[in-house]
Amino acid sequence: MYRRPTGTEDLLPNQQPAWRFVVSTAEDTAARFGYGRIDTPTFEETALFVRGVGEGTDLIEQETYTFEDRGGSKLTLRSEGTAPAMRAYLQDGLQSAPTPVRLYYVTSIFRYDRPQRGRLREHHQFGSEAIGEADGAMDVETISMLASFYRNVGLRSVALQLNSIGDALCRPAYVELLKRYYRPHLDEVCTNCRVRFEKNPLRLLDCKEDRCQPIIAQAPKPAEHLCSGCRDHFERVQRLLTALGQPFTLNDRLVRGLGYYTRTVYEFYGTREGAQAALGGGGRYDGLIEELGGKSTPAVGFGCGLERVLLTLREEGHETMAAPGIDAYVCHVGSEAQSWALQVAGRLRDHGLRVVTTPSDRRVPAQLRQAEHYRARYALIVGEEEARTHTLSLRSMATREERRNLSLESVTQLLLSSVPDPQ
Ligand SMILES: [Zn+2]
Ligand SMILES: [Zn+2]
Repeated sequence: MYRRPTGTEDLLPNQQPAWRFVVSTAEDTAARFGYGRIDTPTFEETALFVRGVGEGTDLIEQETYTFEDRGGSKLTLRSEGTAPAMRAYLQDGLQSAPTPVRLYYVTSIFRYDRPQRGRLREHHQFGSEAIGEADGAMDVETISMLASFYRNVGLRSVALQLNSIGDALCRPAYVELLKRYYRPHLDEVCTNCRVRFEKNPLRLLDCKEDRCQPIIAQAPKPAEHLCSGCRDHFERVQRLLTALGQPFTLNDRLVRGLGYYTRTVYEFYGTREGAQAALGGGGRYDGLIEELGGKSTPAVGFGCGLERVLLTLREEGHETMAAPGIDAYVCHVGSEAQSWALQVAGRLRDHGLRVVTTPSDRRVPAQLRQAEHYRARYALIVGEEEARTHTLSLRSMATREERRNLSLESVTQLLLSSVPDPQ
């Protein structure tokens, strides 16, 4: 028996309606904010992610699916959505469009991560990128869009946390300060933190190990060491969020994992359980496009794991959405009748109706059980008589009421006039 790889999921027919709902809500939310969809390849040059996300990050060091193809090119499966979107922005001439350029994607993300609930090695993200605008109002727009997505999808208990981690002007001095503070504590912190100290010092603030907590508590905080430009920006973001009635709390330990962030970083959490689960988040990355070879261009966006959203919806007790049933199930009696049954099904489908037939000969009660399984609104029954006269018998699956000697034309009209609203 083959099994699916660790950290991947099958999405079965009965799970599709809930999945489609989450995806279409993301698409609809993005459209309401004027974001255009972008799809990028499943794999990119490895160098794009290394350059974009940054060496020393967990993602690049431990989590990418990287391989050499048969031509010797070094490639990496899409391990986050922003670097590919920025690559496309530069390559496909989007720089010449009026700013800001607003993009969104719903796409699969591949990370060799320790599989946990709602966190898969292949998962899906709804992400946005707003490119070319430095004003804090742009940060706020992306935050509002993500908050709006959570509301539209029906999540009730969601909280926003916010921080600023400075920019190229003030961050280097802060990182030096942080390292100076940590250096005497290096034998007290966890092994991971010793690595972070060398490779990605901001992540020191993000450590979840118990032994590191007292040290983090006393560490200098990024938001207390911002240059005046970053401080003004951070204040503007907070002022606009307040004006919009979007609640938030400041979290001076929030840094996010990827290397490209500058200034604003934010995360949304599900607040229902005791343990806070991050639902999604983002921030500003004003240096990324330049890092990838473009001219200096500010940008801000978010990424939101959709499996985590689905899981939280289920935990909040949302009813599982049922797949829509079919319009008609065509039963036949005998192989003579089958030919007419297949013609009927074909013509009804041409009218856009959902119709299922029985491929082999079965007794009528067995076929009616199939009709129930498919949650058909009607069963059409074709016996010898119907086949000879090209008529149909129609039975309502809800009321069991039966009508005989109907023409295909009248059955078509009846089915079309009673199509329920799409779910
Ligand atoms: Zn630690
Ligand atoms: Zn600054």
